[in-house]
Amino acid sequence: MEGFFLSKLNRREFLKKLNNIILPFFLSSIFTPVSQAIAKKTAQIDFQPSYLKLHKSGELKQRADMLWRIMEKCQLCPRRCGANRLQGEKGFCQAPGAQLFISSFHPHFGEERPLVGRYGSGTIFFTFCNTRCVFCQNWEISHLGKGFKRSIEDLANMMLKLQEIGCHNINLVTPTHYSPHILKALDIAAGKGLTLPIVYNTSGWERLEILKILNGVVDIYLPDFKYWDSKMAAKYSAGADSYPEVTKEAILEMHRQVGVAKPSKDGIIYRGLIIRHLVMPNDVAGSEKVIEWIANNLPKDTYVNIMSQYTPLYKALDYPEISRRITREEYEKVVNKAKKLGLTNLDIQGYRWLF
Ligand code: SF4
Repeated sequence: MEGFFLSKLNRREFLKKLNNIILPFFLSSIFTPVSQAIAKKTAQIDFQPSYLKLHKSGELKQRADMLWRIMEKCQLCPRRCGANRLQGEKGFCQAPGAQLFISSFHPHFGEERPLVGRYGSGTIFFTFCNTRCVFCQNWEISHLGKGFKRSIEDLANMMLKLQEIGCHNINLVTPTHYSPHILKALDIAAGKGLTLPIVYNTSGWERLEILKILNGVVDIYLPDFKYWDSKMAAKYSAGADSYPEVTKEAILEMHRQVGVAKPSKDGIIYRGLIIRHLVMPNDVAGSEKVIEWIANNLPKDTYVNIMSQYTPLYKALDYPEISRRITREEYEKVVNKAKKLGLTNLDIQGYRWLF
């Protein structure tokens, strides 16, 4: 038998053919029942993504076109650098004109539990970024733009594939500078049966004018609140001194649109605001102030993920004050403050391994 195959095919071709036959069979045997189980379960959940109405009325397409036109003198983010992306110009974020470049898409099991559920958060990693933090953990994607040229149809198909394999949502990582492409793809995917909630996974540094265009499109906002102090924002995020003020306004608007994030009876969050705050060494992030602002300006049951995983990556070692991980004491101080201020919906996983 081996002789028969190897006489006609070399080993590599043989394995490739085997892969083509067995892998789809293997994947479909796993994911088809999973997708059916999910479909059955989500059917009981009575969830309709907000973008479906806009798709049916034709408004989603209009909003996508509106965002597309903004790229002529790009003002999609607070940098407002005015690059003519429709003519191929690059702005501060380095997004290559109006071309779409995506790094990867797959179920992600490292996000917040109510987004991950049993079958993962359907994550799509977009290349480049307007915030450009010196400690970025995804720097190869966001600074160097490591990824592949993709069409809008490809993006729509990725969304549908993530739904087909059972993911609980479409999690758009660093979407801001590709928001026109995303809305166009969403309009196509909605027409082909996409019904998963859209997660807008952003640095939080978003223009109000753009967020208003996203009203009714996004189901779950997942912003960071990185810094309290504009000097810190400027120092570690490429001159982004407007970060604290802009992000506060943005978070209030996000909350106005989608409200508090609460898990449904299946444990999954389908709608709402989830704020992430990364505690940094030497209180560079101004964590207690950030927490205080959240407690004073949003409902006490706002979902706040206090993140402990800061790691000095990329250019962080050039800055002595952020060139180490945080201590248990630094993290505990922030968590205690949040509890003291009455915040009740805290995500504090990853707490135990700190020293
Ligand atoms: S999205 Fe990019 S090109 Fe557009 S304003 Fe922001 S940094 Fe400039």
